Formats: sequence, structure tokens, C-alpha cells
Amino acid sequence: MPTDLPPLVFDGPVAAADAAPVDLDHAASTPPRPEASAALREHVTAANASATHALGRAARALVEEARERVATALGTSPHDVVFTSGGTEADNLAVKGVVWAARDADPGRTPHLITTAVEHPAVLAPARWLADRGDCHLDVVAPDPDGRVPVDRILAALRPQTALVSVMAANNELGAVNDVATLAAALAERDVPLHTDAVQAVATRDVDVTAMGVAALAASGHKVGGPQGVGVAVLRRGLPLVPLSHGGGQDRGVRSGTFAAGLIAALGAGLAAAVADRAALRARLVALSDRLAAGLEALDGVTRNGPDDPAWRLASHVHVSLDGVEPAALTLALDRAGIAASGGSACSSGAATGSATLAACGIGGAPLRLTLGWTSTEADVDRALDVLTEVVPQLRSGTWAVS
Ligand code: PLP
Repeated sequence: MPTDLPPLVFDGPVAAADAAPVDLDHAASTPPRPEASAALREHVTAANASATHALGRAARALVEEARERVATALGTSPHDVVFTSGGTEADNLAVKGVVWAARDADPGRTPHLITTAVEHPAVLAPARWLADRGDCHLDVVAPDPDGRVPVDRILAALRPQTALVSVMAANNELGAVNDVATLAAALAERDVPLHTDAVQAVATRDVDVTAMGVAALAASGHKVGGPQGVGVAVLRRGLPLVPLSHGGGQDRGVRSGTFAAGLIAALGAGLAAAVADRAALRARLVALSDRLAAGLEALDGVTRNGPDDPAWRLASHVHVSLDGVEPAALTLALDRAGIAASGGSACSSGAATGSATLAACGIGGAPLRLTLGWTSTEADVDRALDVLTEVVPQLRSGTWAVS
């Protein structure tokens, strides 16, 4: 195993000279659908949607049309849709907003928040921040080794003052899918709202706010065929919430700031296209991810992680651990061979820190997450398998060298 690895800096070519880059990191960011790119090109010059003149009214019409499309795509009312800068802001808005509203409603009683150890930092970090400030008591529920969090374990953590439960619809690293509908139903009986981070789920799962019964949901443009820099917080009417940003009072006063009309129009177009294509995409990705996983498992010392039951894992995700390989060297070798993959979590690809999700699940070895999306092909899968078949033995024997 090489011990004198060069630092992980992006100082070289992004792909081997003789091959086009292969994107197997769709969970980090998937390309916008053509409908989204066209909408962004057309509407990037939109006026301020709060202005009362004709240009402003036209921009507002774009925003409201996108709101309708997003609401239809996510199975909710347009009145429940708040546009944000992405999944991180949507998660922060729900977690902080609901906890603060509970604290304000009963200043004598510290609210209680429940979340899970496999949440994205967009949920876990605000939850811990709130608890550290004394704004809430926090329980972080452990997952099963496959990354799923059993409903019973969440319910066992409830207290009389529980103000919010936040459990992700699907995990960004392992692709483990949670039974959000069953959890929401059980919580509704106890009058406890459920927020779900559905950022990774929307592209391939039938995410429907009404059917799931959640009070709040986060989605992100760049994970569902829309652009980066825009997202959605679904906040059902009646959910008490303190806004994070104060200003012009846009979006029900929940999220002040000039509407990003072009990005919002592109999100509406991209999400609608993604949802229309979702069942077909899912079937295609099941076949591709099965092929990828079978090829990986045929290599020695490779273990697939996440749920065994395909019903409870994302069709887009293949996560494995490799024995006898240095994690940073693995992603560097793949990068040098023109394969975009992740050794860590979606938003910290390339970072040297370990994964809290993998630690919580007790997963060791060198982690490798390969994620597929709407542009993925069989050729992508086969190229990745060819590269891994070549470099993994070299990495293990210490004969791999930076080209
Ligand atoms: N939640 C999950 C599960 C994610 O995977 C990500 C990004 O990877 C986020 C939230 C953050 O979304 P955004 O990048 O839009 O802020």
C-alpha cells in the first residue's frame, strides 16, 4: 500500500487523455435536464418578481407557474411550497424554524428534537447547533448496519415535549430508504410533525408529500435535473415556523429575498421532466446498478453496503467497501482514470474527514460510492469496472503510481 501519496489537489487532467470523463457521482450533482437548461437560458434575465410593473408581473407568473409544477411533482399544494437556495437551506429552515417556534410557543419548556445519525450535515449540523445553544434537547437515533432507521427506534425516543422529528427519506451515501410514511402516520397519532430530507430520494422514488403524510420536506434542484443554487422547502400550512431570513417578506414571509425567477423556472421544468421520466429511469438504473454491483462484487475483497432488499435502496446508488486499499488513493486513482466517484459523502467528496454515516453503521474498509443518474449508460458502468479491475490490485500491491 503506498504511504507517500501526493496531496489530494486537483492539479492534473480531469480525465485520462484517451477517454471522456465518466460521471458516477450523480448523488453529488446530476446534470440539469434539457428542459431545465432551456428554461434557465430563457429566463435568466427575468425581472424582480415582486415588482408591480409588467416585467415584474411576467417574472412573478414564471415563479407561480414553477410553484404549481413543483407542487404537482411533489404531491402537495402550491401554498406549501417555499423556494430556497437548495437542500441545505430547506433543511435548516425546517429544523431551526420548527424548534424555535415551539420554544416561542412555550418559553418555559425546552423543545425536544429527534433525528438520526445518518442524516446529511444539512440536518445534523443545525440540530447539534440548536442543542449546543440550549435551544432544544436532542436525541440522535442510531441506524441499523444497513443505514435504515427502524420506526420503532424513533418512536421510543419520543418525549412529551418532542417538537419535531427529522428522518431522511433516503441516505445520500448508502442509498438506504426509510419507511417515512409509516413513521409519519405513527407520529401524526401523537401530534408530532415529521420533516424529511428527500434530497436524494426525489430522482428515483415516488416522493409524494400527501401520501407520505409529512409536515415538511426538503428537495434540491441539482439532485433532480434542475440547476444548482435552488431548492424547495415544503412546509405544510399550520406548521408553526420561525423564518430564518427577514426582509421583504417574500414566500409567505417565511423566506425573504428576491425570487431567483430564472433558477426557479428551471427547477420547475427540470423537476417536472424528471418526475415524468422517473419510472422509466428507475427501471433503467436498477439494471445498471445491478450490473455495476455484480462487477464490483466479482473483485476480491469487495463488500456491498446498504440494504439487501432492493425495495429499500435507491436504484441510483452502489456503495461498497474495499479491503486493503487506502481510501484517498482509491478516489485519486479513479479521478486520474477519468472516473468521477465519491469516497465520502455527497457534499464532501475529496474531503479527508471520515463519514459519520459509515461510522454510525459500523462500515469499515475503503468506501466507494458510485451513483448513477439520467445520463448514465452501460458504457459508463463497464468503463468503471474496467478501471477498477485494473487499479485495485495495483493499489493493493503498492504498484499504482500517479500518471
Ligand atoms: N441533504 C442530502 C441528503 C444531500 O445529499 C444533500 C447534498 O448532497 C443536501 C441535503 C444538501 O443539498 P444542497 O447541496 O442543495 O444544499
